[in-house]
Amino acid sequence: MLPTFSAARTMPTTCVVGILWGDEGKGKVIDYLAADTDYVVRFGGGHNAGHTLVLPPSVAGEGKLVLHLVPSGIVHPHTVNVIGNGVVVDPIHLCKEVEMLRERGIDVELGRNLLVSERAHVILEAHRRQDQWGEAVRGNGRIGTTGRGIGPAYSDRCARVGLRVGDLCRPDSLRAALGALAEQKNALFKPAGLEPLNVEEMFAALREAGEALQPGIVDAGAALRQARLDGRRVLLEGAQGCLLDVEHGTYPFVTSSHASTGGAFSGTGMPPHAMKTIGIVKAYATRVGEGPFPTELHDETGDAIRKAGNEYGSTTGRPRRCGWFDAVAVRYSGAVSGVDELVLTCFDVMRGFPLRMATSYKLSDGSTTTDLPAFDLDGVVPQFEELPGFEEDICHIRSFDALPQSARDYVAAIEHHTGLRVGTISVGPGRDQIIRRHQS
Ligand code: GDP
Repeated sequence: MLPTFSAARTMPTTCVVGILWGDEGKGKVIDYLAADTDYVVRFGGGHNAGHTLVLPPSVAGEGKLVLHLVPSGIVHPHTVNVIGNGVVVDPIHLCKEVEMLRERGIDVELGRNLLVSERAHVILEAHRRQDQWGEAVRGNGRIGTTGRGIGPAYSDRCARVGLRVGDLCRPDSLRAALGALAEQKNALFKPAGLEPLNVEEMFAALREAGEALQPGIVDAGAALRQARLDGRRVLLEGAQGCLLDVEHGTYPFVTSSHASTGGAFSGTGMPPHAMKTIGIVKAYATRVGEGPFPTELHDETGDAIRKAGNEYGSTTGRPRRCGWFDAVAVRYSGAVSGVDELVLTCFDVMRGFPLRMATSYKLSDGSTTTDLPAFDLDGVVPQFEELPGFEEDICHIRSFDALPQSARDYVAAIEHHTGLRVGTISVGPGRDQIIRRHQS
């Protein structure tokens, strides 16, 4: 008899999502959780994401490690890491990232501990050029993309002209598809003064990458569905954050994928089922790129938070915009993503700062709301609550009760205003700098 999926409904799956605009420290949390996980699966985004791990000396690859496409479980020898169908894959970048990991002493074997969905779409040179050109044309209205072709690759997926990872292993259809795509793109590029695409060059580079990746190119959805039936523990790794979700985020200043929990099912081929969702949020707020950011600080306090938190993008090096914790936005994202528990990261960075958080917004008509508006977020005036800060270094603390009283009060205020439980607190970039709270 074929296995029934109902049997799998009780198997534990955890989904980790960023709550605001990304860079919340998801990499560190996933690395921490991956110790007790069999599969770590990326479900969206591309190599615009940058997940930072800080590994202890006893672990292969020790020190700071930034991953862009490879899931953050790769440093755990027992985990299978899967790039799901919802991810857009630059195969040339992926080969380089695998190479970098191997040079760091991390064991990566395609087909064993790294799988790539044959249904994931491919980022081409054409997409990179289109992305950079699009941003240049938008001028002051630019979105602030990383210029890596992510948006155009997703657009082509929707327009049904994209190439999938499985096409890399089918030379004849690959060449034909590239030819058709180049014809279309070149018609667009010519009037814009962009260099035409060279099909043969693209074909050769993609074939080379395809051959290297081939052992790992699989029907990842089927593998994951089977893994659940077999009772394996699956961890779904979100990229970016809920407020960058193409539908639920601060549109149009968003990414092109579903960065909230909704994307976890469509982006992996796993059917919707009971899942624990963990939302990652910093003790303050940051944003890279353009777009509304109600609690942004434009003064020396913002600069001081940037310096204390070393807030520079792990993918582009761009300085991150910094501001106060925004309970309105966190509550919204928590609701959209069905968050069961928050992990509060970078709490150590708040040492010496007042603990301020937005608890509501004043709108242009004078009314007050605790809901995140879909429009005119630029015009809202956040209403703040402030608690006294703490002066102690909390990096070495490992129990909630040992935190200064003001830090504990801040956590309680976050829980009160967001309606979400803070189950874990991160007090430094290192793997062990974690405070787990027990359910009260
Ligand atoms: P991700 O994309 O969500 O994985 O986040 P990034 O890796 O872009 O950015 C998070 C940064 O914060 C990285 O440099 C992490 O090493 C660092 N980080 C994570 N948690 C903490 C923490 O609790 N305290 C401090 N000081 N840094 C942290």
